[in-house]
Amino acid sequence: MANSKYEYVREFEQSDALLKNTWIVVRIDGRGFHKFSAKYEFEKPTDKRAIDLMNGAAAAVMKELPDVVLGYGCSDEFSFVFHKDCALFERRSSKLMTTVASTFTAYYVLLWPEYFPGVRLSVPLPTFDGRTVCYPSVENLRDYLSWRQVDCHINNLYNTTFWALIQRSGIDAREAEQRLSGTLSSDKNEILFQLGINYNNEPEMFKKGTVLYRNFELQTLNPATGRKASSTLTEASLAAPTREVQKPSKSAAEREKKTKAKAGIAVQHIDLIKDEFWECRPWILT
Ligand code: ATP
Ligand code: ATP
Ligand code: MG
Ligand code: MG
Ligand code: MG
Ligand code: MG
Ligand code: MG
Repeated sequence: MANSKYEYVREFEQSDALLKNTWIVVRIDGRGFHKFSAKYEFEKPTDKRAIDLMNGAAAAVMKELPDVVLGYGCSDEFSFVFHKDCALFERRSSKLMTTVASTFTAYYVLLWPEYFPGVRLSVPLPTFDGRTVCYPSVENLRDYLSWRQVDCHINNLYNTTFWALIQRSGIDAREAEQRLSGTLSSDKNEILFQLGINYNNEPEMFKKGTVLYRNFELQTLNPATGRKASSTLTEASLAAPTREVQKPSKSAAEREKKTKAKAGIAVQHIDLIKDEFWECRPWILT
């Protein structure tokens, strides 16, 4: 590359490489989706087509970016976890975040007609903001994901009750908001019950959100228990990966990486908070 007198402007660029050896989470969130969902007449409280579309776009992001080990989504947001050894873009925050947000947006638009046939996209178009956060331990990463899943549950219970009040007892949005102000989960469950809805029977997809991960090694689970046949990994053994104990040869590690990248993507509406999810799928974080 020839040097020009303008070349010095590069020195104004700031380094934004993320801390080594940490789990990188990129979270994207739909911009103005309250309005967006109203414009495209999403069913309330939750339109399944819109969730399926989010999940379709997220699966495409995981296929394009093999460093992503897990995705978790709810409503108009998705979190993508990059492995702590990820070296993509030298771990530069802006590169990772913008690549995820634009890949996701491109697929959201591409797949839109599959999920909303006959509904033409026009301004406002779907756009997503993004951020990156580094989590230094598996415990922190799991707490992050638990935080998002608890948030999904709290919002879904609120929205389900809010819209049940409007749709089934005929009150308006302001009255429904007043009715719900200061209520606990148990109160909302009771209101729903009186309106003929048992919250436990609501779809898992809405209550738990969606987890995506690579289906690598799922076949080694004991079909009776859903648990890994031999060892039971503890939180401690997850936190201190096997790498130190038995470091695989480079080619073996490369092979494993390739197999993981080629594995299908599992899409589940499942609890991420309890240990069981992680104990049964130890490869996700190794
Ligand atoms: P911001 O730009 O700050 O993110 P926002 O309007 O997108 O603003 P959020 O807090 O992200 O606000 O909330 C997303 C909103 O999008 C929800 O409150 C809900 O109204 C709507 N929404 C998202 N997904 C669905 C869905 N599947 N079905 C119905 N409504 C949805
Ligand atoms: P990276 O992913 O690192 O950005 P890249 O292949 O996109 O890699 P850039 O440095 O961004 O590399 O350069 C963009 C390249 O895209 C150009 O070198 C050129 O080959 C091609 N390109 C971009 N715009 C055009 C265009 N309008 N017509 C033909 N080629 C183009
Ligand atoms: Mg937001
Ligand atoms: Mg939003
Ligand atoms: Mg949101
Ligand atoms: Mg470039
Ligand atoms: Mg380029």
